[in-house]
Amino acid sequence: MERTYIMVKPDGVQRGLVGEIVKRFEQKGFKLAALRLMTPTEEHLKQHYKDLAEKPFFPGLIKYMTSGPVVGMVWVGKGAVTTGRKMLGATNPADSAPGTIRGDFCIEVGMNICHGSDTVENAEAEIALWFPEGVATYEKSEDAWLYEKR
Ligand code: UDP
Ligand code: MG
Repeated sequence: MERTYIMVKPDGVQRGLVGEIVKRFEQKGFKLAALRLMTPTEEHLKQHYKDLAEKPFFPGLIKYMTSGPVVGMVWVGKGAVTTGRKMLGATNPADSAPGTIRGDFCIEVGMNICHGSDTVENAEAEIALWFPEGVATYEKSEDAWLYEKR
C-alpha cells in the first residue's frame, strides 16, 4: 500500500485547521500510520525542502516553516500520494479548486497551510526523515468496506 507524508504547516496549526485536515484524510478512507506535533529545526526543514534550496523563496520558506510547531502525519492507502496532492490542491491557493484544502482555507502561496508528498519516492524519503523511529502498521476493519476484493 502507498504511503504519503502530510504536514500541517505553522499557519495551519495556528489557525486551528489540524482537525479539519485530519478529518478529510480520515473520511476519504486513508489509514493513519503516524501523527505528531513537533517544532523542527532549521536544518531539518532544509533537509525536507533540499530540492528547493536554490529557489528565491527558499529563505522565506524556511522562516515560515520555523515560525511555530507543525503536525506531521503518515497516511496509507491506494493512490495516497496522488490523491493526497489532489486533496491539497495547487501549490498556490489562488489556483486551488474550491473543495480542496488549500482552495477552501488559505489565500497566499507562502502561507498554504499544508504539505503533501509529490511522488512515492519522495514520500518514502520524507517519512524516513520525519518518523525515523518508524510508523504503525495495523489492520483496519474499515478496509473491507473501502477496497474491492478481486
Ligand atoms: N512556495 C512559496 N513560493 C513559491 C513556491 C512555493 O512560498 O513561489 C512555498 C509554498 O509554501 C510551497 C512550498 O514552498 O508549498 C514548497 O514548494 P513546492 O513547489 O514543493 O510546492 P508544494 O509541493 O508544497 O505544492
Ligand atoms: Mg513539494
